[in-house]
Amino acid sequence: MKDHKDFHMTPEEFRLRGHTVIDWIADYQERIESLPVLSRAKPGELRAALPEEPPETGEDFEAVMRDLDELILPGITHWQSPNFFAYFPANASGPSILGELLSAGLGVQGMLWATSPACTELETHVLDWLVGMLGLPDRFRSDGEGGGVIQDTASSAALCALLAARERATGFLSDEKGCDGTLVAYASTQTHSSIEKAVRIAGLGSSNLRLIETDENYSMASDLLASQIAADREAGLVPCFVCATVGTTSSLAVDPVPEIGKICRDENIWLHVDAAMAGTAALCPEFRQINNGVELADSYCFNPHKWMFTNFDCDCFYVADRAALIRTLTVLPEYLRNRPTESGAVIDYRDWHIPLGRRFRALKLWMVIRHYGVEGLRHHVRAHVALARELADWITESEDFELVAEPLLNLVCFRHRGGDDLNMRLMEELNSGGRIYLTHTKLGGRVTLRFSIGQTNTERRHVDRAWDLLQKTALELEK
Ligand SMILES: *Cc1c(COP(=O)(O)O)cnc(C)c1O
Repeated sequence: MKDHKDFHMTPEEFRLRGHTVIDWIADYQERIESLPVLSRAKPGELRAALPEEPPETGEDFEAVMRDLDELILPGITHWQSPNFFAYFPANASGPSILGELLSAGLGVQGMLWATSPACTELETHVLDWLVGMLGLPDRFRSDGEGGGVIQDTASSAALCALLAARERATGFLSDEKGCDGTLVAYASTQTHSSIEKAVRIAGLGSSNLRLIETDENYSMASDLLASQIAADREAGLVPCFVCATVGTTSSLAVDPVPEIGKICRDENIWLHVDAAMAGTAALCPEFRQINNGVELADSYCFNPHKWMFTNFDCDCFYVADRAALIRTLTVLPEYLRNRPTESGAVIDYRDWHIPLGRRFRALKLWMVIRHYGVEGLRHHVRAHVALARELADWITESEDFELVAEPLLNLVCFRHRGGDDLNMRLMEELNSGGRIYLTHTKLGGRVTLRFSIGQTNTERRHVDRAWDLLQKTALELEK
């Protein structure tokens, strides 16, 4: 029983429980393949098993861990399973989990440089490292006019980019007076839904978002973008923002950033490049052509929390002109005034995103990069891409399945030749079986299965077995 003079966990007890928790996570990693990838929980099942009221007196740690196993775990979909091929990955790794733990242990709130200088400086430094590691343009480095910041998600990064674009287009007047309904933003029909959300939050209004049609590769048709911009100018509107995607969510298609960038430069429109998933591939020089044209972008983001072995959440957001972003988002109340800020010699990241407070996320990213080295990260990215290529070849050779597009990088889009209904039934049957998890999209109006290879521990044997399972299950359904 606890000594009721002090309800806190002592450092001694923390040490003991901490070892238990680390052991639990290591055991989880070892047995994860034996668990059904997609949770079989029914709606309301967990809540029905939890007590109506919170405990009046503190409980034993063992009891909590028991409930973790018995109640929580069945309601978990195992994103860290090597048999997770759904959506895009949200992968993780030992060094990132430990970095996350250390960040919690330090418990720093890094809103200002002064509130923990290392929290800010490590972030700036690691983001500058990444510019080099990914071959991104130097204008995103913090030693020039630009710089990078870690945001929670690509959605928040896009919103910040749009807000800065809005202010740049209106001479920083929308912040003061609000939007007048004339600002227009552009994306493609394949752009992530976060852009529509950003357009609504930023006050442009979703009717002022133009979704440009794509070509046969699902890439934005840049000639249609140019003509839409011209038509909008003709109508007295003010084009202010274009989002180009490097690796769309549906099919990993790449928009023609060089062409789009030239249009934006000529029209003085803010170009944001969303490389949330595919950006990690640029670690490998042989995949860097995906970033052609990014030197024309005003902002860029990618998610280490998808494919770079850094657990959620971690999005790296870069701007070429940090002054525009900071001017858009800065507010300085008296209680935050401090000497380092006033000296102008430091970065205060609170001015680079929407919340004031911020976690020490750079720690996990730094630990990942130091553990793997550039070489280790490249090795695993290449391995995933090679597996996707191999699966695509098996599909091409099979009689029952067809590739929908040649895979770019690590996403394979394919379908059974038996039609939409069969593909949906096949996916549901596989997912409810628990041995693999994959999801679908629609391309060209037809159901398409997506096989996304990016989980940290996915090896050839997992892909091989999944392909086997796909073929066998399809045969059974056809009977
Ligand atoms: C996953 C994804 C997003 C959204 O990512 P969040 O970080 O969850 O907001 C945005 N754009 C693209 C292209 C994506 O693949």
